[in-house]
Amino acid sequence: MPEQKRDYYEVLGVSKGASDEELKKAYRKLAKQYHPDMNPGNKEAEAKFKEVNEAYEVLSDKEKRAKYDQFGHAGVDPNFGGGGGFGGFDMGDIDLGDIFGSFFGGGFSGFGGQQQRANAPQKGESLRANLSVTFEEAAFGCEKELELTRTEMCDACHGSGCEPGTTAETCPDCRGTGVVRIQRGAGGFAFSTTAQCSKCRGTGKLIHSPCKVCGGAGSVRKKKRITVTIPAGIDDGQAVSLRGQGNAGKNGGPAGDLIVGIRIKPHTQFRRDGTTVLYEQPVSFYRAAMGGELEIPTIDGKVKWSLPAGTQPGTTFRLRGKGIPELRGRGRGDQYVTIKVQVPTSLSADQRAALEAFGESMGEEVPEGVVKSFFEKRKKKK
Ligand SMILES: [Zn+2]
Ligand SMILES: [Zn+2]
Repeated sequence: MPEQKRDYYEVLGVSKGASDEELKKAYRKLAKQYHPDMNPGNKEAEAKFKEVNEAYEVLSDKEKRAKYDQFGHAGVDPNFGGGGGFGGFDMGDIDLGDIFGSFFGGGFSGFGGQQQRANAPQKGESLRANLSVTFEEAAFGCEKELELTRTEMCDACHGSGCEPGTTAETCPDCRGTGVVRIQRGAGGFAFSTTAQCSKCRGTGKLIHSPCKVCGGAGSVRKKKRITVTIPAGIDDGQAVSLRGQGNAGKNGGPAGDLIVGIRIKPHTQFRRDGTTVLYEQPVSFYRAAMGGELEIPTIDGKVKWSLPAGTQPGTTFRLRGKGIPELRGRGRGDQYVTIKVQVPTSLSADQRAALEAFGESMGEEVPEGVVKSFFEKRKKKK
């Protein structure tokens, strides 16, 4: 993004001291004006829409606004708005009902003079589920089955709610719109408001013979087994999103999504930090001093490593490319191996004598007699 960013206050056309109300008002106006649905294929409007959203996202947040006031663009998350996304969603995901519905509590009626109607297409709710995977499954990816209960379109009536062979009547009170106008006041003070049609409860239609399978709802609850593909490199706490696998939409709207949170079960030997695998290799005191070939477990299986003589406890070395694959990337992390020297806790008489001898040769103070008997024994053996 080589272009100079515009001042957020300037983007929204408000003064530095603007109140939350003023910000909201300005945002509402501009978001409507530049919304992609209102400007299909207009790149300039799309860029403006993003800019407006970005500005509002920052200025409507007390903390972010304070930082922005103090440090300018550098004060707020530099990655924000990068990659062309909006709040983590593709532009294609936003519909007017969504953004105005959530910002203004569903009562928003200024847009095009129309209220959000009960019979308008609505996206189904998204569902959440959790899955546990092993350390290796997370590293290399896997497929898991998940059972869930969700609403699906009724097969018997194809979502219409009417018994096959029958159709719904268009509501005469609201003429299918789901809303009715109510006149209030009198004379020069008459005004009208809209309300949900009570005859059809906002659906715009009257079902005289409801579908026997779904009772007229148009959807049924079903148990479903779903295969979830978990990508290689996924980390604990991340989620996989399956578009269209949530609850059925209403009035021909798309189904919601299924969001699967991933938990990684702890491993007995490995720990993980991003794409790095951490492992502690126990090594005997003798082996650490003398060096030698080790067999080290990795997520690919055992690999050979020659330990240099005189390796100190806590020494860490790296097995390049033996870590976790990058999520949706090509590379792989490394495995770090830390040497844990094990000091013997119980010694046989022979071992004890050998160690005493070793201690003496290193200039340690050793109790009399023990070493002598060790050497005498060795002489006898010869
Ligand atoms: Zn009606
Ligand atoms: Zn049905």
